[in-house]
Amino acid sequence: MTDADPNIAMLMNRRRFAHRSALIAGAALLGASASTAIAQSTPEAEEEPPHWNYEGDNGPEEWGSLDESYAACDAGSAQSPIDIAGAGETEAVDVAVDFATIAPMRIINNGHTVQVNIDPGSSAEIDSVHYNLLQFHFHAPSEHAIDGERQAMELHFVHKTDETATAVLGLLLREGQANAALEPVFANMPAEAGDEQSVDVELDLAAVLPSNPTTFRYGGSLTTPPCTEGVSWIVFAEPVEISTEQLAIFQAIHPNNARPLQEVNDRDVELDAAD
Ligand SMILES: [Zn+2]
Repeated sequence: MTDADPNIAMLMNRRRFAHRSALIAGAALLGASASTAIAQSTPEAEEEPPHWNYEGDNGPEEWGSLDESYAACDAGSAQSPIDIAGAGETEAVDVAVDFATIAPMRIINNGHTVQVNIDPGSSAEIDSVHYNLLQFHFHAPSEHAIDGERQAMELHFVHKTDETATAVLGLLLREGQANAALEPVFANMPAEAGDEQSVDVELDLAAVLPSNPTTFRYGGSLTTPPCTEGVSWIVFAEPVEISTEQLAIFQAIHPNNARPLQEVNDRDVELDAAD
């Protein structure tokens, strides 16, 4: 466990730094007498799950030690993303997607990605289980690799059942022609973390999906803290294209928000061949 010590030291250093910042801010804004009250409130703030990101002290290699609730990020054995390689042919199982046209479009920059929140009415039927589409969001570069190859971006359609089981449809985006179906999203991405807007456009979600319905499936996890396992992953085998300009719009906001590849361990990846 000695290799955990530097992480603990880093956490403590960060907390001390935050504590000092509070004291300085308190002294500057409110005078010295108020700084005591601010210092006493600091322990409560420390109980919040810590901020995580994609590099440095709070980057993916540290997620599991940032907070007890993030332990699966380190300790899990069925984590995502993975390199999808050597998938065996299996019986074709339909993933029946029923995506609506949404308008207006509710889009948010949550500091980790750009996300479009979906009103009830879009769903997917996977292994005869009904999942409701809640939101979709982006990563750059792609998180999953297929035969060792990552693409420019990846789109995640996040679904849940009424019992909160999670299924994510992953779609790799590679540089090429401009993507007309996704243009309303790229054209309205909020630049600042915390920005949220409702945009008066129509977004035809079904038109975003590739013409080839072949998918890979495996059991994995959320790719962000708390890295919860038990997620059904369905990744389309065929990427769709986006233009260099569309890629640049997202990269200007989130230059790198992809978790590194995780160990496959003893998991099977199944190929659901197209009909
Ligand atoms: Zn994602």
